[in-house]
Amino acid sequence: MKSWNGWGDEKNDFDFELNSESQQFIEHRIGKSTPLKDATLAETVAKVPDSRSPEHRLISTAAEDRLRHSRGQSIPDWLAMRSGDFGVFPDGVAFPESSQDVQEILAFADKHDLIVIPYGGGTSVCGHITPEANEKPIITVAMTRMNALMEIDEESQIATFGAGTMGPDIERQLAKHGYTLGHYPQSWELSTVGGWVASRSSGQQSLRYGRIEKLFAGGRIETLQGTLDIPTFPATSAGPDIREMFLGSEGRMGIITEVKVRITPIAEKESFYVAFFPSWQAGLDATRAIVQNSVQLSMMRLSNPIETSTHLRLAGHKNAVNILEGYLKLRGSSEEKCMFTFGTTGTKEQCKSALKLTRKFISKHSGVYTGSSMGKRWEHSRFRSPYLRHGLWDIGVLVDSMETCLDWSSVPAAVEDIQKSIATSLGAEKEEVHAFTHLSHFYGQGCSVYTTYIFRAANSYEETQARWEKLKAAGAEAIVRHGGTISHQHGVGKDHAPYLPKEKGELGIKAIKELCQMFDPNGIMNPGKLVP
Ligand SMILES: Cc1cc2nc3c(=O)[nH]c(=O)nc-3n(C[C@H](O)[C@H](O)[C@H](O)COP(=O)(O)OP(=O)(O)OC[C@H]3O[C@@H](n4cnc5c(N)ncnc54)[C@H](O)[C@@H]3O)c2cc1C
Repeated sequence: MKSWNGWGDEKNDFDFELNSESQQFIEHRIGKSTPLKDATLAETVAKVPDSRSPEHRLISTAAEDRLRHSRGQSIPDWLAMRSGDFGVFPDGVAFPESSQDVQEILAFADKHDLIVIPYGGGTSVCGHITPEANEKPIITVAMTRMNALMEIDEESQIATFGAGTMGPDIERQLAKHGYTLGHYPQSWELSTVGGWVASRSSGQQSLRYGRIEKLFAGGRIETLQGTLDIPTFPATSAGPDIREMFLGSEGRMGIITEVKVRITPIAEKESFYVAFFPSWQAGLDATRAIVQNSVQLSMMRLSNPIETSTHLRLAGHKNAVNILEGYLKLRGSSEEKCMFTFGTTGTKEQCKSALKLTRKFISKHSGVYTGSSMGKRWEHSRFRSPYLRHGLWDIGVLVDSMETCLDWSSVPAAVEDIQKSIATSLGAEKEEVHAFTHLSHFYGQGCSVYTTYIFRAANSYEETQARWEKLKAAGAEAIVRHGGTISHQHGVGKDHAPYLPKEKGELGIKAIKELCQMFDPNGIMNPGKLVP
């Protein structure tokens, strides 16, 4: 069972205890901190109020079910889960097992005027699934029992999944047929294919497989106005695309019950490598050249100097890192060096050719290629980072991120401003924030910018929430200032909604609102999210 107040499965030993070097590094950057006291599950279950939901065969009103489906994974969600002060709980959790069950739940909600919150894996980091106080009873619809591979058309390479299927179950079921979806958000272990569509997700290997927009071929959606079956076409010029209406719909228009995805045969070979550039500018120039010359890599990640040194310090291999840094120094690198992680996936020939071409660009931009050993380490720990939140929480430290996507011409100034704005946003209270950045999804036109920040918990949960609000506002305002999208991959939810009008414009927001209203005239589908 999923952890009720953190990341991972309760059966797993998901603790990620920080070693003493890592702790020292963090203390050196932001100072020593004191952990906040955690509420217990029993204490928190005792706070769940009586349910206001009418009875239904598919709806559980058990306090623990309601508690476990109340929140996602944002910092406000963590603070709610750890303090036990959730504020609002859903009045019931529906567990449908088929599209017909979802239809039945929606009809029931319509009849009894219930608020409906679709819930995939609950990995939202922007308050997408947080229930808000409402005089109407609130029902969360947990999709995780709809988790089967329903159909596979190997000739067309299309697979149909229940919308609640999580990343590992998708890959496990496809692997039996020799296929992969290749969609690996860092939240892959716990997020669902329906959630990916509803929040426009992007996986770590989007360079090869594409974002979910490319992978989502069609499917079935239950709405309050009826069922939409979206057929699959390789391409169409028949007017606006219904798939696009539901990509990023965040549970406002209906519940996706079946998702048809484009699949690929499992690649013959896959490897990850690391190189270092002497400066941020060299890294930017090289990665832009690689993507604009269509080199067939499956992933790229360029860490700025602060992220590079943070990763090397937190790697936990002091001697190996010293040897590496000595070698890079001999080759002309300084404190300004930037780590470049990249992957090749495909046939042996494709991988060989992509590596050869990439190494040429690395050399041309004065980079130093260090081979595959650090790449293997990245591969091994690619889904481990979320567990780091536990180790940090235990020493009174929180970690969060802001991400955007911009045209290449805007990237350098935006990176500097976003990172600096976040790092200095607690200056009035003389709090240090450790902020660092990488670029991780690359397009000919631009790339995504991902800034991570580490900060200390305050003396109370309320003050810690206030700190986070300042950090979030500083990062979001800087993104908007530079014309970036408010999210490249995390979506809008509640936390990013105030910044959406800036990029959609008044008319654009009106169009989205009216579309939501067409499907949901009484405003019962996940109100307060996307377009409040
Ligand atoms: C540690 C961590 C790392 C992350 N890394 C990435 C990353 O690399 N890339 C990325 O894209 N995202 C990432 N995320 C964000 C998050 O995982 C994605 O937004 C993901 O797509 C959410 O999927 P989910 O199934 O958990 O949806 P939920 O969080 O349950 O829901 C998200 C939204 O989708 C709606 N929804 C869910 N299922 C359905 C459905 N069947 N029908 C209609 N609406 C539905 C919900 O109502 C809600 O509005 C990360 C999150 C965490 C915590």
